[in-house]
Amino acid sequence: MRKSHLIKPVLGNNYPVISHGKGIYLYDKDGKQYIDGSSGAITANIGHGVREIAEAMWNQAQHVSFIYRSQFTSDAAEQLAEKIAEYAPVDLNSVFFVNSGSEATETALKVAIQYFQEQGNMTKTKVISRWTSYHGITLGALSMSGHQLRRQRFTPLLEDFPAAPAPYCYQCPLKETYPGCGVKCADELETIIQSIGPDQIAAFIAEPVIGASGGAIAPPDEYFARIRAVCDKYDILFIADEVMTGMGRTGKMFAMEHWNVIPDIIALGKGMSAGYTPMAATIVSDRIMNVIEAGSKVVMSGHTFSANPQSAAVCLAVLDYMEKNKLQDNAEVTGQYLITQLQRLQWKYPLIGDIRGKGLLCGIELVRDPISREPFDLSTKVTDRLLSICFEKGLLVYPAVGGVTGFSGDSIIISPPLTVTKEQIADVIDILDQSLSDLTTQLIT
Ligand code: PLP
Repeated sequence: MRKSHLIKPVLGNNYPVISHGKGIYLYDKDGKQYIDGSSGAITANIGHGVREIAEAMWNQAQHVSFIYRSQFTSDAAEQLAEKIAEYAPVDLNSVFFVNSGSEATETALKVAIQYFQEQGNMTKTKVISRWTSYHGITLGALSMSGHQLRRQRFTPLLEDFPAAPAPYCYQCPLKETYPGCGVKCADELETIIQSIGPDQIAAFIAEPVIGASGGAIAPPDEYFARIRAVCDKYDILFIADEVMTGMGRTGKMFAMEHWNVIPDIIALGKGMSAGYTPMAATIVSDRIMNVIEAGSKVVMSGHTFSANPQSAAVCLAVLDYMEKNKLQDNAEVTGQYLITQLQRLQWKYPLIGDIRGKGLLCGIELVRDPISREPFDLSTKVTDRLLSICFEKGLLVYPAVGGVTGFSGDSIIISPPLTVTKEQIADVIDILDQSLSDLTTQLIT
């Protein structure tokens, strides 16, 4: 007989049981406090235990929690779609609700293919993505993901969609140096499109800031404008996967705003519900919706729980809370402070190779040698070690490992809730400082 019937990420590991959370803190049943320095999986954007969200849950549940989207619509889902369309760039006005980021990116791919099919073009069925990327765990989304570790077991079932090099300047896959490279990684997209054939390709998908596979890697400023131009040249749709970056995390509502580039489709998840309910979305441009409306009129996707009013009401309350408390602005200000504090640690610890990020999505890359940028051997398990030292000391950070070609790369993401204060960031830095000191000692001995 098993002690626990719950299948956990690592079988046999002893996971503490969390009893409650408040703000940026989580508390386990033994009373230990943890600073949620990564908002879980970069999700708990408004912090834990917010009363207004609990009230919104109760209010909606008293009326109706579930309706079937093929039979009815609801005020909550209509209002949420309207709010997201207001936030989104000019002509991204239609929203399809799903339950996870993986479903949001997969829906984006299906919509892109359908857009061309509705016009009689049946060959544009491929999507190009980048090595060092993560778009989700279901087979379609994993096919788009250039995350080596997560792909390897299922390779026979996956399409080879990742083809383009990532704009990962610190460890450039093209062995170039910015700015002398002229952002060759963006030009490579055109070469790849020409070799596959633009008539085969429906879309290009990219995370504005690379998350789970690389640890908060933002591209050079010119990158996305070039990508947009290449996509336009070959009639290829541009999907921005904002599952991790969307809804204020980087200091803008959508991270693509940093470069003033407008995608055709945006995938959202994580922060839009801040973890209070499973909810995600695919935002689609008028240009695409007009074609579908003039054609079959049916977006060929959907899930039982899509657009359920219970989750929609929760997301509305989350967005309302974000607006009232100006959390997007706080992400920008405290994010800058966090970066400068992390840079301070970089002076102290040679194993910190790179500090990077946007807003409150910050990354630390750990290397064996900061001059040559040589990564640690994977067997050293440097990220795992740092994670567990931080955990012991009551700080949660997020690992971004195994996403890079050859599975190399040790990075962590620091991304506290957007409610975080400078004083709380100082506490995060204190624990990180002690943890890096312990790790350095471990590595020497
Ligand atoms: N896209 C990005 C950029 C992500 O970071 C993630 C999750 O980490 C996903 C998609 C998949 O989202 P989910 O885990 O909700 O399926």
